[in-house]
This record gives sequence, structure tokens and C-alpha cells, in this order.
Amino acid sequence: MSLESKQSVTSDLLDTFDRPLRSLRLSVTDRCNLRCQYCMPEEEYAWLPRNTLLTFEEINVLVSIFTEFGVDRVRLTGGEPLLRRDLPTLIRMISQHARVQDIALTTNGILLEEQGQDLFDAGLHRVTVSLDTLKPERFKALTRRETFDRVLVGIQSVEKFGFKGLKIDTVAMKGFNDDELVDLIEYGKSVNAEVRFIEYMDVGGANEWAMEKVLSRAEILLSLRQKYGPIEPVIENSSAPAQRFLLSDGTTFGIIPSTTTPFCATCDRSRLTADGFWYLCLYAKDGIDLREPLRMKDLAEVRKRIQTGWNARTDRGAEDRKQLEQASMRGRFIEIEKLRRDPRLEMHARGG
Ligand code: SAM
Ligand code: SF4
Ligand code: SF4
Repeated sequence: MSLESKQSVTSDLLDTFDRPLRSLRLSVTDRCNLRCQYCMPEEEYAWLPRNTLLTFEEINVLVSIFTEFGVDRVRLTGGEPLLRRDLPTLIRMISQHARVQDIALTTNGILLEEQGQDLFDAGLHRVTVSLDTLKPERFKALTRRETFDRVLVGIQSVEKFGFKGLKIDTVAMKGFNDDELVDLIEYGKSVNAEVRFIEYMDVGGANEWAMEKVLSRAEILLSLRQKYGPIEPVIENSSAPAQRFLLSDGTTFGIIPSTTTPFCATCDRSRLTADGFWYLCLYAKDGIDLREPLRMKDLAEVRKRIQTGWNARTDRGAEDRKQLEQASMRGRFIEIEKLRRDPRLEMHARGG
């Protein structure tokens, strides 16, 4: 598809809270080879129909248009992004856009050893691997699969491919892995990775979510202080979701406190599903259809939808959820029946 109808000048967009559009999370598939209980608790889902999935060429056209409006960071996610065949081809395409400064990948790590070198050679800059436990039996209980060893092999292979700045993302949950925070930090040190603890969120299919299971930023810090002593915050000017901290031995780690301390005020992220619907917030219940005008080759309409969509953006999903919590009105985010009717409401369809 050509970009001939590209407008010569488009300016950076601001939403209703003056937040720019900088980061685009591309979900390249809604399929996954794990069944993490906080994300995909069921075996079968209403999968996005194959003929609706955007081709790499189509995704690339959208990325190109998004860069006109200010996007300079792209993260490939899913589902499990490495299940999408030939992902390096897409990375190669995206890396051609001068405005894209950073191409990152979030993966469960199972296929990383197999694909890592090709991903690096194609131009992928950074890798984040999700790992919630170092105990094989817990991994199996959480993910319903026995691929723990492959995840570790994947993590350990990252450096040899040439990647720098590996991150390990851990959803911290009371009664599940709250006794492993130190072990995870130590494991991170051993593989040159920065560990980031994510507060458990009640998004999409997280049907078992309860506030009592959330290990808060304050509790994470308290627990780590008992082992490591004083912990200093790292002062940086960034819209990244993780707050970073420094241990006295120089190790850094992050906390993404989405549930107790939402960071919506500076949120410059949006998400594109594998079938071309654009979501302005992790908690947004409706997306903007970009596939339809894209397939009609009406790129002016694609631009219009992006521009008017972001200009009208009022989303502060995690803050809204927190307010409901404070009023003791935080019910289930989305009813199971609704999730079954609209697969895009699931976290695995829009990426984390
Ligand atoms: N499959 C890949 C992976 O797991 O890294 C990418 C997609 S996954 C949806 C992206 C991230 O979302 C993962 O780090 C995962 O742990 C996180 N996530 C999923 N459900 C979550 C929840 N309920 N609360 C917090 N984080 C969650
Ligand atoms: Fe787990 Fe990621 Fe798959 Fe969700 S998409 S089930 S978080 S591996
Ligand atoms: Fe951004 Fe929505 Fe997450 Fe808030 S809840 S940080 S607005 S994606």
C-alpha cells in the first residue's frame, strides 16, 4: 500500500490533558502459549478471526502514520508476540522509520532462544521478559504449562545475541510470589537484567483479581529493605511507567505501581490490536477502528480518526479504578459474558 496521500505536515498531538502521543504498543497476535491465570485463565477464547488480522504491510502503514503524530517508541506485544510468524520482517520495516527511536518487545521468553538472533539482526533494540516466579511448580500452577526451563534459557540467551538493557517484568501477587522478591532481584543480577515489579491489575480477563492480592509498591519496598537496607529512588524525568530504585550495592530495580499509584497524568501510550483497533487506554472499553479505512485505502480517514481520537482522549483508567476502590465500589472490571463477546477487551488482545 502506498503512502502517497500522506499529508506533508502533521503536528504532534495533545489530548484533553495535554498528554502527547509518543508510545505505541502493537499487539501482533492475541494467541499465547501460556495461560497465566491473571491474564488468560481459560484455555479457549473467541480468537480474532484470521482474515481480520493486519498484515505486516498494513501494520507498517499505520506505524508510519502514527509517527507523523509524534509516536517515537514502538513495543511489540500480544498475546505472545513470538508466535507471530516472521516477526523480524515487521521489525525490519518499522526500523526504517527515522522517527522511531526505540523498538522493544515484551515476551514470555519461551521462543526467545530460537528467535533472538534474528530479532536482534532485524533491528529490535530491547527485550523485556515476563517472569513471575523462579519455582518451576509455581510457574506451572500459574501458567498451566511446563515451559519454565525454556523461559530461563531464553533469558540467559539474550546477551549473547547482542541485546543490552534486558528487563524482567514480574507481576507481584500476595500469597503467590511475595516471598520471591529478593530471589528475583538476585536472579536479575546474575543475568544482567533490571527487574520490575508490576502491581497486579484488574484489567481484561483478570477475573480472579482482588485488592487483597495486590502487593503494593509500599509493601514491595518494605520487604526489600529488610534484606538490602536503605533504598533510594532514582530521580529521572521520564514518562516511563516504572519508578526506579537503587540498592546500596548499585543494583537498580523498578516498580510499576499501576494499581495503588496510577501514573495516568503523564501517560503517552496507546495500543493497537492485531486486528487494527486502536485503544487509548489499557482500561478503555471501546477502540477506534483503523482497519476499515486502512483496507479501504482511505489514509486521510485513518489520520482523521487518529487525530480526533487523541484530541478527545480523556482516559485515566487506573485512576478511575482507584477512585472506585476508595469508594468501595470497585466491582469486576468487565463481566465474563462481555469478555466472551468482545475479545479485544482482553489484556492478551491489546497487550500489557
Ligand atoms: N505474552 C507476553 C508476556 O507475557 O510478556 C506479552 C503480553 S502480556 C499481556 C504483557 C504483560 O502484561 C506481561 O508482563 C504480563 O505479566 C502483564 N500482565 C498481564 N495481565 C496482568 C495483570 N492482570 N496485572 C498486571 N500485569 C499483567
Ligand atoms: Fe501470560 Fe503474556 Fe500469555 Fe498473558 S499474553 S497469558 S501474560 S504469557
Ligand atoms: Fe495510561 Fe490508561 Fe494506564 Fe492510565 S490506565 S496509565 S491512562 S493506559
